[in-house]
Amino acid sequence: NDVLRVEGLTKIYPDGTLAVDDIDFAIKEGDFCVIIGPSGCGKSTTLHSLVGKIPPTEGSVILDGVDITDTPTYQRDIGLVFQDFQLFPHLNVEENITYGLKRMNASPDVVDERLSNVLEMMQLDELRDRAPRELSAGQKQRVALARSLVLEPKLLLLDEPLGDMDYKLQKRMERELLRIHRELDTTFVYVTHDQTQAMRLADQIIVMNGGKVEHSGPVEEVYNRP
Ligand code: ADP
Ligand code: ADP
Repeated sequence: NDVLRVEGLTKIYPDGTLAVDDIDFAIKEGDFCVIIGPSGCGKSTTLHSLVGKIPPTEGSVILDGVDITDTPTYQRDIGLVFQDFQLFPHLNVEENITYGLKRMNASPDVVDERLSNVLEMMQLDELRDRAPRELSAGQKQRVALARSLVLEPKLLLLDEPLGDMDYKLQKRMERELLRIHRELDTTFVYVTHDQTQAMRLADQIIVMNGGKVEHSGPVEEVYNRP
């Protein structure tokens, strides 16, 4: 069954740019879905429409059967990991991770339990008191993931999260992401322009070009793999 359905999504920016042109797609629950396409094809616009940061010009976004097109960002059960992580520089690792839970008024017991789970899963226990400036790129990435995962979203969106890393670190983080995806009951939507990365990660692929969806389906089908 589909955790997400997008129907007739169109985005025209105020300056008249048609960034996303009447697209439809669906994402299966639990899948590692990769949205791929060249720079400027509308990937970020699509992602930001899903999370509610950009109001679509037309179309609807349906999460678990509920139309969330007009639901405010913070009330959607969707997490977003930014390309540049956007950690809070003045908060340490633990505070970065618990910030969202506290803002949602989660009880101290829930905060403690979720925090210790996610610290263990992301192997961040030893770094909990560090400031973001004292972390490597890979460590920042893990904190950014932990900060989203701790909220237990139905859907986790990742916007080119390995873009600025060297190849070795990229490969290691890919393995981490696959491990975390297997361990969790969460659907991933991962945006990249890197086809080899998409083939390593994806269950399902959505190929975008010029604001349109060109292909969508299981990775074997889209890339004719055995
Ligand atoms: P991608 O993420 O695939 O690189 P984007 O969604 O960022 O693509 O951009 C799609 C198109 O929309 C591009 O032509 C881009 O220049 C344009 N665009 C993106 N953001 C804005 C904006 N705020 N105002 C006007 N045009 C935009
Ligand atoms: P990405 O593809 O990762 O979103 P971009 O460089 O395309 O990175 O966009 C960075 C920011 O600039 C985004 O907030 C996007 O909305 C905005 N932007 C991109 N293209 C345009 C454009 N043509 N006009 C105005 N803003 C734009």
